[in-house]
Amino acid sequence: MVEETKETKKTNETRADQTEKGQTSFHKFLKKYSIMLSILIIFYAVAITLWLVLDQIFYLLNFMIIGTSIGLGLGLWPVLQKSKKHIARKISQVLVGSYMFIGLGFGVVYLIWGYLEPENMQLEGFWFWILTGTFAAGVIHYSIAKIFGTTLFGRGWCGWSCWTAAVLDLLPWKKSPGRKKGWGYLRYVHFALSTILVFVLVFIFNYTLSTTRGVVDFTGFYTSQGGEHLKSSLYQIHEFWWFLIGNLIYYTSSIVLAAILKDNRAFCKYVCPIAPLMKVGARASIMKIAVDTEKCIQCGACERACPMDIKILEYTDKGSRVTSAECIQCMECITVCPTSAINISYRFDIGFKEYLAVQETS
Ligand code: SF4
Ligand code: SF4
Ligand code: SF4
Repeated sequence: MVEETKETKKTNETRADQTEKGQTSFHKFLKKYSIMLSILIIFYAVAITLWLVLDQIFYLLNFMIIGTSIGLGLGLWPVLQKSKKHIARKISQVLVGSYMFIGLGFGVVYLIWGYLEPENMQLEGFWFWILTGTFAAGVIHYSIAKIFGTTLFGRGWCGWSCWTAAVLDLLPWKKSPGRKKGWGYLRYVHFALSTILVFVLVFIFNYTLSTTRGVVDFTGFYTSQGGEHLKSSLYQIHEFWWFLIGNLIYYTSSIVLAAILKDNRAFCKYVCPIAPLMKVGARASIMKIAVDTEKCIQCGACERACPMDIKILEYTDKGSRVTSAECIQCMECITVCPTSAINISYRFDIGFKEYLAVQETS
């Protein structure tokens, strides 16, 4: 009887040990892949909801492709060695960037799937659709990546998906020389000019989307005129030209600016008109960079590695997470930290102060 009791006790202890070990490895798994899992859950939820509500399989495939591409990068990030972590971000940038830039922007997806017209995914394209109240791909993209989604994952688009930055991050001026004092207002001017341009074209020159909307199918490209789809060549589609010329200007100016200022992300800091839009929601982002003060040895490596010049330690000194709306969630600071003191954390907070490293001479 005594032997039996001892045996039972031993078995129970072994089971408890195994359960504890199982829970520990499950928690470790959750911790390691928490960012990837959050992004997959968000994108798959959007994909399934839009598919069911709008009854179009395009939405299911579209958001699953984007979510899986970013998820793949985020899933690789924790398993790669420090010196190779940048590859994870590059994979996500290339996959999402090429799908949206070539696939959606230039209508290649429609030629293959028959679901979507070539569309101008630049800021001007967004305003054109908003003014007509059309639920187009550009509107959905802006809503998720650049307006409402920023309250969940901040400016993750800028760090992991933007097709302009995918090229900029390949340039050799990776180490930022700091911000040019007083140059930040330029992107607000750009935002205002882009917005005014569309409003003037629509309300003064009656430039309507019936002439800008392009349609393609397996046999060719069409434009919609007076509700009728007329067969056209790609070059007759206005959306195509807006997108092509807009991107040519963006790529040229951003590369030239990076070379002049010796800063890959100069365009993001001073010129990009989308940054002001994204900064609104990003302030309240649930996902933010946080420093564990117990582990931090104040070496400053994180600040030196930050491509957006954020003074991470100033936030830490004030007992806050990095609430800067300039953070692009690139995780470079996490990669270089020698004591693993930095991580992404999840909670609600909001901060309006920007602590940025500014160049001595501007
Ligand atoms: S700031 Fe503009 S150009 Fe830079 S990554 Fe963000 S969206 Fe792309
Ligand atoms: S604070 Fe970290 S995650 Fe944010 S931009 Fe700087 S290096 Fe990237
Ligand atoms: S890199 Fe890590 S240890 Fe060094 S200052 Fe930044 S948080 Fe602290």
